[in-house]
Amino acid sequence: MTATAPREGELWSRCAGCASLLYRKRLRRNLDVCPECGEHARLAAPERLRQLVDPESFTPLPDRAAEVDPIDFVDVLSYPHRLSAARAGTGLAEAVVCGTATIGRHPCALAVMDFRFLGGSLGAAVGELITRAAERALEDAVPLVLVTASGGARMQEGALSLMQMATVSQAIAALREAGLLTVSVLTDPTYGGVAASFATNTDLVLAESGARMGFAGPRVIRQVTGRELPEGFQTAAFLLRHGQVDMVVPRHALRGRLVALLAAARAGRRPALRPAVPRQEPAPAARPAAVADPPVVDAAPPADAWETVRLARHPGRPTTLDYLDTAFEGFVELHGDRLGGDCPAVVGGLARLDGRHLMVIGHQKGHTTGELVARNFGMASPAGHRKALRLMRLAARLGLPVVTLVDTPGADPGVRAEEQGQAAAIAENILSLSMLPTPVVAVITGEGGSGGALALAVADRVLMLQHAVYSVISPEGCAAILWPDRGAAPQAARALRLTAPDLCRLGVVDDLVPEPVPAAHHDPEAAARALREAVLAHLLPLLDVPPATLVRRRRQRFRRFGAARAGTRAGAR
Ligand SMILES: [Zn+2]
Repeated sequence: MTATAPREGELWSRCAGCASLLYRKRLRRNLDVCPECGEHARLAAPERLRQLVDPESFTPLPDRAAEVDPIDFVDVLSYPHRLSAARAGTGLAEAVVCGTATIGRHPCALAVMDFRFLGGSLGAAVGELITRAAERALEDAVPLVLVTASGGARMQEGALSLMQMATVSQAIAALREAGLLTVSVLTDPTYGGVAASFATNTDLVLAESGARMGFAGPRVIRQVTGRELPEGFQTAAFLLRHGQVDMVVPRHALRGRLVALLAAARAGRRPALRPAVPRQEPAPAARPAAVADPPVVDAAPPADAWETVRLARHPGRPTTLDYLDTAFEGFVELHGDRLGGDCPAVVGGLARLDGRHLMVIGHQKGHTTGELVARNFGMASPAGHRKALRLMRLAARLGLPVVTLVDTPGADPGVRAEEQGQAAAIAENILSLSMLPTPVVAVITGEGGSGGALALAVADRVLMLQHAVYSVISPEGCAAILWPDRGAAPQAARALRLTAPDLCRLGVVDDLVPEPVPAAHHDPEAAARALREAVLAHLLPLLDVPPATLVRRRRQRFRRFGAARAGTRAGAR
């Protein structure tokens, strides 16, 4: 135990972070977080359960840990001897406690590891118990919550402990196939075979403040590389920055976060669990692309396209986070692509719209120069596109609809972006969106810049704010290529037909969302209300459409932009 070794007697313990002598009861009331320095002391599994689950709701799984000493392992002590000592010291049968419970009245199965028991090591019995917890989750059709604390696989069981990484992962795979949420909570420390399997292959990965996670431990890395490690290496903040965890959560907020995540998962329609019952298909929307009635916009004369470009780029224009704050409720941001990056130009997570749970993903710009720089002006890196992809797929698995808010000058055109496969990252999103078995509504809220915009906009319905623009290239870029000079940008803007009324006529956009007069940034609240109403109006009819029908229609929607329509499009101008 780092922090609570009761050396000072039962009543007092010394904080490992700041060495304060703390009154034991006070520390416990504070969830074993030092009130002086915030150090999160390690928790025994029973105490962790007490903090997380609803009182009296925990029922341990009936399964007993089997006695295992498969390879008669002996170091200075025999393995059975070490096991007995761990049992006597902890009062636990093994390094994990498994059962069912409710958290905020949402039922789930849980497996909570205990580092005191042989370093929380993963042996055959631990693997078996966690697998049974996962199987119980599958049986009951409830989410699985794992709390990890482990040095890795249990050496004393040789290669059989290594195999547990695969065993438990298979059980997680079955839950994924069934559309049941899996969440792991990384606590300090989580390393080796546990980190490289069920601690990180769950749908969501939360890191408790103070947790460290990695494949190789710092001592090993120092030995191998012969180098000192950077400050904060493998800490929760490091993991967040490098896209490996969805969020870092202080212990006090952990239960509340789990409640919110379980609530969202429960609201999903879990397409995988529903039998594919063929249904009476409603008649397709009687509004083919290019002959649609133009949406009713107030009688004001059409704005000049270049003027619209300037409005679409106005720094006061509401951003995705502004809309999440005003048009949506209960946003829980999810971070990271799980491959090494967390792109600040793309934000996403679970939220509610008029009480309905959904996934919202959008480009994030900012209002000040500092914010714009920090968010890379809303230009997503490959990590941003991969984060978006991860969240879309998660939404689909859980049966939650996706709403995207598009506001980007374009995808990040930098050197690193190219090194990391920007083109393929965009391509994969476009492909995956065209297969996604859940409703998708995209709203172009500001700039819909080229492929970077489309990477979030292959949707069942594409809406566009009145003064937004959506284009294959920026007017400046177009002018530089096709006109003698960049000064021709206003002419290029007019020629590109990039305004909402133009794109509604072309059928690229299904509906125009009116903005307050003269534009969204003058009354962000009114803009948020209009966006909310428009999204609801287009999303609600999609919720009952069977996934296969949804996907087929989405593909038809884009197919109709083929050359066969060229004549009609020209006629519509
Ligand atoms: Zn302290």
